[in-house]
Amino acid sequence: MIQPIRGTRDILPIETARWQFLEQAVRRVFHQYDYGELRTPIFEKTELFARAVGETTDIVEKEMYVFADRGGESLALRPEGTASVVRSFLNNGFERQLPFKAYYIGPMFRYERPQKGRYRQFHQAGAEMFGPEGPLADAEILAMIVRFLEEVGLAGTLTLEINSLGCPECRPAYREKLIAALEAKEPELCGNCQNRLHRNPLRVLDCKNESCKEIAHDAPHMLDHLCETCDSHFTGLKSHLDTLGLKYVVNPMMVRGLDYYTRTAFEVTTDALGAQSAVAAGGRYDGLVTEMGGKNPVPAIGFAMGLERLALLLEQQEIGAAPVDIYLAAVGDEAAQSFGLKAAEAFRAAGLRVAMGLQGGSMKAQMKKAGKSGARYSVVIGEEEAQNAQVTLKDMEQREQWTLSIEEAVARMKSA
Ligand SMILES: [Zn+2]
Ligand SMILES: [Zn+2]
Repeated sequence: MIQPIRGTRDILPIETARWQFLEQAVRRVFHQYDYGELRTPIFEKTELFARAVGETTDIVEKEMYVFADRGGESLALRPEGTASVVRSFLNNGFERQLPFKAYYIGPMFRYERPQKGRYRQFHQAGAEMFGPEGPLADAEILAMIVRFLEEVGLAGTLTLEINSLGCPECRPAYREKLIAALEAKEPELCGNCQNRLHRNPLRVLDCKNESCKEIAHDAPHMLDHLCETCDSHFTGLKSHLDTLGLKYVVNPMMVRGLDYYTRTAFEVTTDALGAQSAVAAGGRYDGLVTEMGGKNPVPAIGFAMGLERLALLLEQQEIGAAPVDIYLAAVGDEAAQSFGLKAAEAFRAAGLRVAMGLQGGSMKAQMKKAGKSGARYSVVIGEEEAQNAQVTLKDMEQREQWTLSIEEAVARMKSA
């Protein structure tokens, strides 16, 4: 037997009910905020990601699936969604039609060590907004994430964390201050942080190593070194969130892994899956459009959510599984079975979801299956019922039952 590729998996029919529940909520809620779906290819020129995500990031250096196609061109499976959206934004001239708001849902690919909840093909839903520069846009996108999480029933288990990462005006000077402070403690930093001290000092702030955590706590923080524009942007964001009554935590240690973020950065985290982990993350990237070849700077903000983790949370909270409405068992001769199929069709025509015991078996065996199906109602048809053109409809929760014609049973189910 051929096995699936390491780090990939089949999402089985029993799970996809939850996935579809999530995806439908994404489409419904994002639509309410005037986002349209953008479907980009899952592979692109390798240089797109090298430029957008950053040559020296782990994603580009170590985790990307890169291959030469038959024409010898270097291509990559997309490791994230933003780069393709920015490329499409520029290719299609959306600079002239601001604001531009787009969302996506689909698979991403990273060559990482597989572990529980982490796969080499994983799935994200994300949204990007181009044009608005002020904190109102940041507040709207956070409100959208929170509304989505409320609609899928997960808001209670999650925390919204925000931070500001400054801008090209104020970050370089802060960066120097941070490097100086970290250099003084260099021997106490973990090996990983010693390596990135000069290359990417901000990442030291969110290192999980205990000794690094202590040093990070006492190190200078971006929030205390924002320029006036960044400071009033962040103050504006907090004030809009307060007006909306959205709960948030300011976390000066949250720096995000990608170089392109400016000003607002945010994460939605949970501790319901063991170690604290992010289910959604994003931020503002005002410089990326010009970096990617845009003639004029276009402010932008976006985020991505991990569907694997959201699906795990739903499973844990027993949300989103969709049992059938009716389990229908027809027992007896061919006429009874045929009448059963006719009844099943009548329920389906009325929009109900019906599982029929097509493999036969005794009434007792079929009732066992009805119990397992999770359906609240069962419909039982024996030879006598079939002869009288009647069905027995049972409410298995209330332990009530009625003998009815097909039409009467459909009417009762529709009003149930
Ligand atoms: Zn600034
Ligand atoms: Zn460290």
